[in-house]
Amino acid sequence: MTMPISTDLVMFLLLVIAIACGWLLGRFQGKRSATLRMGRDVLPSIDFLLAENNDGALDRLLDVAEISDEAVDLYLNLGRIFRDKGQTEKAIQLHQNLFARTDLSEAAQLDVELELATDFLKAGLLDRAERLLHDLIQEEGHTQDQATRLLVQLYEEEQEWLSILELHKNSKLQDLPDITSRISQAACEYAFELFSKGSFLESHKYLKLALKVNPLCARANIIFAQIAASQNEPAEAIRCYLKALKQDNNAMLAVLPDMVKCFTQLEDFKGLDKQLETHWENNHAIEVLVTRVKLLAKQGKQQRGIEILLTELFQHPSNQGFFALVEMVVNEKAVLNSSQLMSVYDILRRIVETEYKYVCRSCGFKAIEHHWRCPSCKDWANLTATI
Ligand SMILES: [Zn+2]
Repeated sequence: MTMPISTDLVMFLLLVIAIACGWLLGRFQGKRSATLRMGRDVLPSIDFLLAENNDGALDRLLDVAEISDEAVDLYLNLGRIFRDKGQTEKAIQLHQNLFARTDLSEAAQLDVELELATDFLKAGLLDRAERLLHDLIQEEGHTQDQATRLLVQLYEEEQEWLSILELHKNSKLQDLPDITSRISQAACEYAFELFSKGSFLESHKYLKLALKVNPLCARANIIFAQIAASQNEPAEAIRCYLKALKQDNNAMLAVLPDMVKCFTQLEDFKGLDKQLETHWENNHAIEVLVTRVKLLAKQGKQQRGIEILLTELFQHPSNQGFFALVEMVVNEKAVLNSSQLMSVYDILRRIVETEYKYVCRSCGFKAIEHHWRCPSCKDWANLTATI
């Protein structure tokens, strides 16, 4: 007796399932065709958008009720291309339209804000860029690091060192290695301004800050040294110069003339000679060697200077060093013995061997050996002798 009921029920259920399947299929297909339509209508290619020579085209494209993340990416790429091509007004228009929307995801909103700030920077609208970047560095989003870099860069270009230091003081800057070094440079710049105005104590305060932020900031110790030298304290200045060189031996060329002055003021030629000798041994900066032998000549030790130059240039041939050698021989009317002349010949031969003999007329590539095909620009038969 229960069989007919079960059959009806099964039939009924099958019917319901069939209708449901049909509805779902229809819905799926409808959705699919809608997506395809959206794909064609809303997301044209970048090439198409760039080829569109109509200012209203962007407004029309943005005039849609909802905008997907995919579309936001496309617009952001397009905006960057406009900006890179120097069409900043177009980039700003596009990004401002996007920025005004309320339907973007939080991440997309931040991306758009960063792009807009970058447009303003490029267009020289610094106040507007500054406002957006201030806003972005407060947001703990993926754009925070980049916004920090751009804001610091903006203040660097405007030489607003105090603005950078103020942000640092209020813990608004991200703890990034490049930012740390830029904060210490900002402190040094400001300290140097104060030093130039005669505010030595205030200057010291910012130099200490520079070293606190970045203990390897050699420039802070160089300014400490310059202040000491200006106060007629050569020994203290030397102490600071040497500290700076320990932090960064590349600073030598920047401090060499001033450091020589301080040693000379103290008549500590032995100490200076030792410093220059050690630095030359460790770094082989030819200017240091030349300074050393010139100082020896000034003290009447020309022969010693010539000996040092011949020995060192043989190991490290250089035009500048060779010039200093010849200059010393001429100025001092020095007479070289046959073994010394042989050394001079060897040094010159080694310098000539490392010189470029050919240059490419197309791209300026320099070569020691002849090439029929330029290794740089790949042009044929374009290498000519250097003059
Ligand atoms: Zn070339």
